[in-house]
Amino acid sequence: MDFELTKEQKDIAKAAKEFAEGEFIERAEEFDREETFDEEIFKKAARLGFVGIFIDEKYGGAGLGTLEQCILQEEFAAVDLGMAVAVLTPCFGSEIIQAFGTEEQKSRYLPPLAKGESIMGSAFTEPDAGSDLAAASTTAVKEGDEFVINGSKMFITNGTRADYLICFVQTDPENTDKHRRHSMIMVETDRQGFEANRLRGKLGIRASDTAEVSFNNVRVPCSNLVGKPGNGFAEAMYLFNLNRIGVAAQGVGLARAALEESIKHVKKRITFGALLASYQAIQLKLADMFTWMRAGKNMVYEAAWRIDQGKVDHTLVAAAKAFCGEMVVRSADMALQMHGGYGFLAEYKVQRIYRDAKIIEIYEGTTEIEKMIVARSLLA
Ligand SMILES: Cc1cc2nc3c(=O)[nH]c(=O)nc-3n(C[C@H](O)[C@H](O)[C@H](O)COP(=O)(O)OP(=O)(O)OC[C@H]3O[C@@H](n4cnc5c(N)ncnc54)[C@H](O)[C@@H]3O)c2cc1C
Repeated sequence: MDFELTKEQKDIAKAAKEFAEGEFIERAEEFDREETFDEEIFKKAARLGFVGIFIDEKYGGAGLGTLEQCILQEEFAAVDLGMAVAVLTPCFGSEIIQAFGTEEQKSRYLPPLAKGESIMGSAFTEPDAGSDLAAASTTAVKEGDEFVINGSKMFITNGTRADYLICFVQTDPENTDKHRRHSMIMVETDRQGFEANRLRGKLGIRASDTAEVSFNNVRVPCSNLVGKPGNGFAEAMYLFNLNRIGVAAQGVGLARAALEESIKHVKKRITFGALLASYQAIQLKLADMFTWMRAGKNMVYEAAWRIDQGKVDHTLVAAAKAFCGEMVVRSADMALQMHGGYGFLAEYKVQRIYRDAKIIEIYEGTTEIEKMIVARSLLA
């Protein structure tokens, strides 16, 4: 594989960096503190084409690939991870519509998503089923030409912002194969019986909206089913492969920011009459952080490139996600340590990086689950 990005990809990286630095570098601490953000920034990002870049040109998107999506995630996350999530995920789940939806569903949902005129989220996790997705018990029972949905979902990104959620629901609970029990159904969030409550007090990515949602006899037309009935688990895995690598790319961006903040600090801070940067114990930390970040980046770029070539490597995607999660948590810890007491203060970006880093090990499949995928593949 040739690791040199194309001119277009380099231009995307440059434009994303300029946008993030211009629009939210100054306000990231405020958004983190207030657990909110300015929707105008999302709208502007959508107007400039940063949102839903993978949506086909036919439906108003840029028709770009997973690698370009990873570049965006990396550049936004290097400025602020909470804002990367708030601005880049409002199309989360539309990949399923694009890959498995009917022509009517694609024409209805994708153009407004690409323009930032509607927002969606993906609802898989439940209070009692996260890593063990097949245990999700929210039901969708067919009554005439409608599905009646009951249950609840937990930790749903954009849960209170979304116009639609694509939901992983049981449509065939008696199926002896637990991977054939679920389907994906679009739910408009203004349907009667739907409720969303924002979860406050998160450790990190506090600008982004995370919610608990519930369905109490929510009725949707059967035409809201996306893909084939009973194929929900396979569709979920398709989405996770795309998004996991994007999360790994977020880890790379955040680790780069940890390194940059550390370099700035050690070139200013004097102890025992010399700059921190002059001590070998400090230099070795910087070298480790650079090496880990670049190793993660190479894994991410290769895995994304393979997806775009139609040669998805599930093992590499899972390995990259697991590596980048551990790598960024370790890097953020080292960065904070090099800042000493100042790293403990909210006004120093490194504190936010330290808090934000942990999510890379949790969402879109925990580090343990990713390693289980890798090990299963090695032993098969
Ligand atoms: C900020 C945020 C945003 C999120 N956004 C979304 C979203 O938009 N949509 C959505 O559907 N979900 C979302 N999630 C949910 C996220 O994907 C889950 O939290 C994650 O998959 C883990 O599930 P869980 O929390 O139920 O943990 P659990 O599954 O209970 O796991 C707890 C711990 O046990 C470990 N573990 C579990 N099983 C095993 C095993 N067999 N062997 C070894 N270790 C094991 C896990 O690795 C983990 O460390 C979000 C979560 C957060 C925090």
